[in-house]
Amino acid sequence: MGALVALAACAPPEAPRIIDDAALANELEDQDWLAYGRTYSEQRFSPLDQISAANVADLGVDWYLDLPEDRGLVSTPLVADGVVYFVGSMNRVRAVDGATGQLLWEYDPQVAQNATRMRAGWEHNRGIGLWGDRVYAATWDGRLIALDRATGTEVWQVLTVDPELPLYITGAPKVFKGKVLVGNGGTESHPSRGYVTAYDAETGEQAWRFWIVPGNPADGFENEAMEMAAETWTGEWWRHGGGGNAWHGFTYDAELDQLYIGTGNGSPWNRKIRSPDGGDNLFLSSIVALDPDDGTYLWHYQDSPGETWDFNSNMDIVLADLEVDGEVRKVILHAPKNGFFYVLDRTNGEFISAEAFAEVTWASHVDPETGRPVEVPGARYEDGEAFVTPGPYGAHSWHAMSFNPEAGLAYIPTLHMNFRFNDEDVDLDTYQMVAWEGGTGVAWEFVGSSREDGVLGTLQAWDPVRQEQVWEVDLDGLWNPGTLTTAGDLVFQGRESGHLVAYEAATGNELWRFDLGLGISAPPITYSIDGRQYLALLVGWGGGAAGLAPPVGWNYGAQTRRLVAFSLQGTASLPPQAPRGAMMPMAAPSFEVDSDLAAAGEGLFGSCDGCHGPGVQSAGMAPDLRASGVVLDAGLFADVVRGGERATRGMPQFSAVTDEELLALRHYIRSVAERDLASIGGGG
Ligand code: CA
Repeated sequence: MGALVALAACAPPEAPRIIDDAALANELEDQDWLAYGRTYSEQRFSPLDQISAANVADLGVDWYLDLPEDRGLVSTPLVADGVVYFVGSMNRVRAVDGATGQLLWEYDPQVAQNATRMRAGWEHNRGIGLWGDRVYAATWDGRLIALDRATGTEVWQVLTVDPELPLYITGAPKVFKGKVLVGNGGTESHPSRGYVTAYDAETGEQAWRFWIVPGNPADGFENEAMEMAAETWTGEWWRHGGGGNAWHGFTYDAELDQLYIGTGNGSPWNRKIRSPDGGDNLFLSSIVALDPDDGTYLWHYQDSPGETWDFNSNMDIVLADLEVDGEVRKVILHAPKNGFFYVLDRTNGEFISAEAFAEVTWASHVDPETGRPVEVPGARYEDGEAFVTPGPYGAHSWHAMSFNPEAGLAYIPTLHMNFRFNDEDVDLDTYQMVAWEGGTGVAWEFVGSSREDGVLGTLQAWDPVRQEQVWEVDLDGLWNPGTLTTAGDLVFQGRESGHLVAYEAATGNELWRFDLGLGISAPPITYSIDGRQYLALLVGWGGGAAGLAPPVGWNYGAQTRRLVAFSLQGTASLPPQAPRGAMMPMAAPSFEVDSDLAAAGEGLFGSCDGCHGPGVQSAGMAPDLRASGVVLDAGLFADVVRGGERATRGMPQFSAVTDEELLALRHYIRSVAERDLASIGGGG
């Protein structure tokens, strides 16, 4: 299984660097970038300083690799022995020479061929892990795969999920002490009970599993932590799964030998259904500390007790030492969805401080005595409806937060969104989520920016000691990627607009920008080979909200996805990209739109809009169906939608769709195409 292609005819590397706890815990200068957040601290701070605020304006393209990828690229590349490893579309893993960009090997886990069914959320993958002489990748269809780092040959693979359930993995596996940890997503797809699993890095054997919420007490509890957690639930929560899926933030603390898990939101979101008589619902929306050797519960801190807004706490968990009130504390820095920036004592989970880092309307503040949020009455849509900031997209999502210990600042890609929640039409007593159909137990919609000036996305520098913003930059659009900070007094962030921008770390002054010609959704990294510092990132618009965002001019297949490396010595130039601009709908005079069929098709398009765009207005994540010849051909359309003909390119197979539904969808898509053509042509 897995295609191994393009083994380059280059000299074999020296004996590979063996990556272990000491290497991953090394915060000092290292030429490589060995882990998702560079080191165990997850700070994404590099001590490399050849590229600095004084010379960053001289950065040029050193090399680039065009990628045959037509989906979003959001992952953090890793570097070991000067070789860059990264995961791209459809979970393909590649190794590239970090000095030249030459492809060394490629591994295709063939996710579409392996999956029993494709899952909602199959959009991107955020990274891979390194340990020993291996690469670890986790796939959308729930497998964990170990590869030989030198050749890309598969060593072992294990299935980490029940294939009958719509669970999926988009996060990077984290490796520590000879174990590989993975979680999964899918809280909204079925009655889900979240868990994380650790596997032996050598053999792939399961070492331990930790469930995040309690199951049915009648079945007995797995451990004392689950018994304790069950005290905070009411009703028959286990019928709804409970949720808590841990799909992103895991941090191993080598100093304290503790593992921190950021946990997910409830299943379903609406607590009135999930736990009808209230309760905190442990361990939802928490950081849970576990013993890394056996997964035993150590302590927890819950940021959103009894959450009911999709306020998960899966965001990056960053470790630091901070001087607080004259005392050096070992802390966790955490900016979860709920809009508060938390500083916790990582020795025991004790609450130190929290302040809102964006507009927050669901709670007035966090009580410094109890560490609990003080909720605003009505925010829980107690009476059916509420307007709440932040919401399901969070004030911060998975886009990487970095921390510069020299500047003392955290750099947060921040979202400013207001949402309407309403459960007046939900039968709270009979609501039951069905596997593969999913649901949230409450209607919700994005209703606009939470800022008066309408700005949706910003980059901000946050001082965690004073708990206040130091600088903020307004960005175009909503969906801007993660950050990198360096000892060169720099912060780097790409943009939805396709620009990679360098800022002075202390002030936010813009020092350099480069137009990559395609929206950026991945964070940059930096490494050094033979005395040359490189800055590298994947360029490929995508991930989560990218498909639902208003079109920003990126067209599916028109702009080339790339891995690009910059240096001060770089003199390469990138081939030009197709210009940003609106896609033209295709004229099809022979297709006569039936308005009744089109109306029926509009109701069905909700299964398509996450990729093809609400109202058939594609944001470039998937083909613009208004310009698709497939839509004009009944047979071809059925082959693609129902037959799964393009599954290997990421188009899910909808086996159950009927002929009538296919016809209605085609008429709806063509009705939009005709309407948009008419408006472009001035009403012709
Ligand atoms: Ca969620």
